Amino acid sequence: MKIVDGDKVVCDRCESVFLLADVSLLEKETNRNYEKVLCDDCLGAVGVPRGYTLRRDITHLGQ
Ligand SMILES: [Zn+2]
Repeated sequence: MKIVDGDKVVCDRCESVFLLADVSLLEKETNRNYEKVLCDDCLGAVGVPRGYTLRRDITHLGQ
């Protein structure tokens, strides 16, 4: 996960920058190190793959 300016993050799919409040985090249940940040558009395109958990609020990750 690439945090930008303390409160923004880079979408792992389209590589655009969004506010933390505007993205979701896909976590792999078996491996917490393997996670993806997705903006709303990319989440709509990708959905939640089997074995992943969707976390909609990751604002606590801001600095
Ligand atoms: Zn995206």
